[in-house]
Amino acid sequence: MTNTLPTDTEVAGMTPAASFLPRSALQTLLDLLLGQGYQVIGPRLDQGAIVYDSLERVEDLPAGWTEEQGPGLYRLQRRDDDALFGYAVGPHSWKRFLFPPQVNLMRSQQTDDGWRMSEVVQPVVRYAFLGVRACDLAAIAVQDRVFLQSGFVDKVYQQRREQALLIAINCTMAAATCFCTSMGSGPRCQQGYDLGLTELPSGFVVEVGSERGAALAANLPLEPLQDEQDQAAERARQRAVDDIGRRLDRDRVQTVLRERLQHPQWDAVAERCLSCANCTLVCPTCFCTSVDDVTNLTDQEVIRERRWDSCFNFDFSHISGGPVRDQTRSRYRQWLTHKLTTWVDQFGTSGCVGCGRCITWCPVGIDLTVEATLICQDQDADAETRS
Ligand code: SF4
Ligand code: SF4
Repeated sequence: MTNTLPTDTEVAGMTPAASFLPRSALQTLLDLLLGQGYQVIGPRLDQGAIVYDSLERVEDLPAGWTEEQGPGLYRLQRRDDDALFGYAVGPHSWKRFLFPPQVNLMRSQQTDDGWRMSEVVQPVVRYAFLGVRACDLAAIAVQDRVFLQSGFVDKVYQQRREQALLIAINCTMAAATCFCTSMGSGPRCQQGYDLGLTELPSGFVVEVGSERGAALAANLPLEPLQDEQDQAAERARQRAVDDIGRRLDRDRVQTVLRERLQHPQWDAVAERCLSCANCTLVCPTCFCTSVDDVTNLTDQEVIRERRWDSCFNFDFSHISGGPVRDQTRSRYRQWLTHKLTTWVDQFGTSGCVGCGRCITWCPVGIDLTVEATLICQDQDADAETRS
């Protein structure tokens, strides 16, 4: 891969001093990317939310918009300024582009000689992601481990990931649902990007994170960074840190949650959980899929489709005769314990990056930081476990 995470030495060796891109030159960056054949994906307003979609013009960006978020709550709001990236994260993550919700894998066609099967050739896509947050850089790194580094390589993900150019934007505010500081994933973009930007009213402080980013920067009308711009960017980034009020004791949860499989809070959360799977679909790291053979109306062709699935779906654990996890309690417990504990055993990293999407988009406002804390905070249970 050309843009796997660079080592500190590589970055230190190639990174020039940060520079400044005037806001009036942002269109130059878009034109450069489009001219190089990238499909630029970035934030846009759609259906009352800030989502990721194709864009070609600076005017496509959600200037002057932000959002209010809370458990089961998402609402667009106007900002007092015309910031282009003045929001946290919306319902989409980059997962939908690197690991699409639906992929045709195989095609079977009936011929005079019988059925003929062939692999579906995947389209070559070359994305430039504009506006990747630190938590989402961490989520992409998690999916790299799952799809590229765990002994199995997902070819669809690999092709898209190899081609993707990542332009990160440091957060200068946080939503009430963010807890990246607890998960060690943000809000400062540290690694895994090609270009890293911090937005100021007059433009962007630009940091280079890879050779590809350096090549791009060389063609931009960058200006030397002034001390006051550097300090303003630092203050803006600190605002995001100061905004984050939600916490999760990651280390305690990682060790204790798996020991509390009979805790009564699993029943309490199951009474509210609808098993709707929203939390897994918006999560930037969840990767469950199902494969189905779909026949066309003439019975002449069968397409083998891979589609996003969820451990919350009743049939997902169906094994010879019935589902292993036939209660919402066991499905929620499976999701939370995998995400926060056994994912570490499996992939060497937590499955949660603290983006807060599952809290916002849960229709009944279930908050995993609250649930995990309730289950893990009871010290008496520790004593019971030891005795
Ligand atoms: S579990 Fe929730 S907070 Fe954690 S990465 Fe997934 S959506 Fe974000
Ligand atoms: S926790 Fe919320 S979003 Fe997830 S399955 Fe239950 S009701 Fe749906």
